[in-house]
Amino acid sequence: MKVVVLYSGGLDSTLALYITKEWDAKVFPLYMSHKFLSLKNLPETPDLKTIDITKEFIDILRNPQHGYGKTLNPCVDCRILMLKKAKKYMKKIKADFIVTGEVLDQRPMSQHFDQLMLSDKAAGVEGMVVRPLSGGLLPATIPEKKGLVDRNLLLKIKGRSRKFTLSLAQTMDLTKFSSPSGGCLLTDPGFCRRVADLMRCQEKLVVRDIELLKIGRLFRLSPETKLIVGRNETENKSIENLLSPQDFFLYVPDTGSPNAILVGDKKYIKIAATITARYSDKKNEKIIEVFYKHKGKTKKIRVKAMDNEEVAKWRI
Ligand code: SF4
Repeated sequence: MKVVVLYSGGLDSTLALYITKEWDAKVFPLYMSHKFLSLKNLPETPDLKTIDITKEFIDILRNPQHGYGKTLNPCVDCRILMLKKAKKYMKKIKADFIVTGEVLDQRPMSQHFDQLMLSDKAAGVEGMVVRPLSGGLLPATIPEKKGLVDRNLLLKIKGRSRKFTLSLAQTMDLTKFSSPSGGCLLTDPGFCRRVADLMRCQEKLVVRDIELLKIGRLFRLSPETKLIVGRNETENKSIENLLSPQDFFLYVPDTGSPNAILVGDKKYIKIAATITARYSDKKNEKIIEVFYKHKGKTKKIRVKAMDNEEVAKWRI
């Protein structure tokens, strides 16, 4: 039999993948990537297929039918989307069913009994999702009824503790999995403040907007204008890479200086320069020359660094 396994690289889906293989199934691990996940190197996984769901995810984020979790994490709708994608893949490769590593009641929003059942129904995969870690506590699925899966082999894990799954991984000699939560940035309140600001000010979000949310200090100068100031070498490089022709690129030359990017209205260039100056090594000088590049031309502006109190007013 062929089985699509929703795989995130975390402990639970790694266990689910391993257990499914033990059923003598040909497994087809499926990884859903989107730009709100922090980058990680997935363990080498044979036959892994990756689908980028960022576009659909952005629509969900704006208007999640089943609401948000503690922060701006639309987990129920996100799970439904993933199951829909898994269904499509299952049909394409003519697989028999879907496996997930979900554990009953492990996550407050999306893994309660009702939510699991609701997600299956909404995704059109009712009875087709086997959950090896908690399946013994859930209604029998179609693959069980058909005799493809032995219900006695399904575990009865429930709740938030990872003690049992960790010891199970140990007994199975599984060591290559990533930390819990899967690195979804939407569970981080600080990041969500930025997301909320972006959604307040911008109707349409594109991938670059999300990439910009992940780096630097963010300052909202007007609904249409924002400034991002790098905090270290890596972020300075990212800022350069994310520049678009309309942006203004600011820096203080000949000293330790952040790279900064002004996205929006030029009339805020002076404020942007005073903030950029504040984070340069010349911040205590009376007058600081801040350079800015725009459409191939470089100009300079002389400013005094903004003081901390003022900086705090603009910062998100
Ligand atoms: S934590 Fe993020 S990636 Fe995971 S289900 Fe929730 S929204 Fe989706």
